[in-house]
Amino acid sequence: QKSSQNAAAPLSNELDMSAYWMPFTANRQFKANPRVLVEAQGMHYTAMDGRKVLDGVAGLWCVNAGHGRREIAEAVERQLLTMDYATAFQIGHPGAFELAARIARIAPEGLDRVFFANSGSEAVESALKIALAYHHARGQAQRTRFVGREKGYHGCNFGGMSVGGLVNNRRAFGALLPYVDYLPHTLDIKRNAFTKGQPEHGAELADALEGIIALHGADTIAGVIVEPMSGSAGVILPPKGYLERLRAICDRHGLLLIFDEVITGFGRMGAAFASQALGVTPDIFTVAKGITNGAIPMGAAIAKREIHDAIMQGPEHVIELFHGYTYSGHPVACAAGLATLDIYESEGLFERAAALAPVWEEAVHSLKGEPHVVDIRNTGIVAGMELEPRADGAGKRAFDVYQDCFANGVLVRQGGEIIALSPPLIVTESQVGEIVDALRNALRRVA
Ligand code: PLP
Repeated sequence: QKSSQNAAAPLSNELDMSAYWMPFTANRQFKANPRVLVEAQGMHYTAMDGRKVLDGVAGLWCVNAGHGRREIAEAVERQLLTMDYATAFQIGHPGAFELAARIARIAPEGLDRVFFANSGSEAVESALKIALAYHHARGQAQRTRFVGREKGYHGCNFGGMSVGGLVNNRRAFGALLPYVDYLPHTLDIKRNAFTKGQPEHGAELADALEGIIALHGADTIAGVIVEPMSGSAGVILPPKGYLERLRAICDRHGLLLIFDEVITGFGRMGAAFASQALGVTPDIFTVAKGITNGAIPMGAAIAKREIHDAIMQGPEHVIELFHGYTYSGHPVACAAGLATLDIYESEGLFERAAALAPVWEEAVHSLKGEPHVVDIRNTGIVAGMELEPRADGAGKRAFDVYQDCFANGVLVRQGGEIIALSPPLIVTESQVGEIVDALRNALRRVA
């Protein structure tokens, strides 16, 4: 049924799609067979042809409180009409201070200094630069090397791309940051297939960090950046004990441990942040996405107070950290962020995610045994399902499954051979069932 508001919207085949160069999209394939969304409310989108589509991925891991939240829209409107913008450089506005304080309150103990950016990618650049500036301020300017991890995703700007470990994101872009080394990834389907939650095997993979340190010398390394749970690479959980080992090695050698929580932040894993869900505390972490429920772009790097304080030196009239964006702490994004945190808190959404997690786990693992499923991984309200590749091309089977689900009213995410699921934290048990049924049917239909 067509929605009344958009009844006059042109059908997608009447849209001129040529000018828009779409991000992370197979443009030619898409434009030959477009999927266009026009409305969103609660757990559902409305497609341009009027069909309802259940959102199995919270937009893109960001709309944790569900779509169309009036409280956020009203806060944004109020802020736009009160003060649309003020420079963030040498000027403040109340919302930025309030939001930073609110984030500090729910962050792990000791991480209470918040540097705002406008996306996950910028949050990562900010975190890397803060790490370098910290060592520089402490007289260790030679610590310029970073350690990332294979299959890591840290956004697509040059710093994040350099420490990231997804080959397609790097291949076309030539020389990157010169001083980066990589830990092995922790995906081990042979030993860990169909594990519920954190896998048993692989903690020892963290010891590769000792080898990297031995090769380059600890005094050349600024820090280690990992996603506590790799999202983009296909929901790869840290083996039990792995993050603890990374933490211990970093401590032993004076390396900063940076967690990229752009996906895992704000309740996805059943706690405010993955570090709390997993019990390992980083020195700096990044957030974005869920910070504003996806409504307004925003990101942040959040550092331990000692890191901040070490950089606060030199003459008081001199800027301590020469870094920031025109839109750092944008008043409208801050208003959206504050309204979002209010919703998370008043509706207890992080606790809701934790309570629903066992139901979610059982539901997604019920797909074990369906055609071509080689692994299912889950935590909190997130899951990844890996399919056997098909002879006609990498990722083609998973893309067919994705398309089948979309045609049948459920939006999932596909990357390579993986289908990822991360619905808004307001998802009901029956909607969990709908998502899983759509996948089951798709798997049985797709060759
Ligand atoms: N870091 C991680 C772990 C992410 O998953 C993403 C995006 O998915 C990013 C960084 C980049 O965020 P953005 O697309 O907002 O720049």
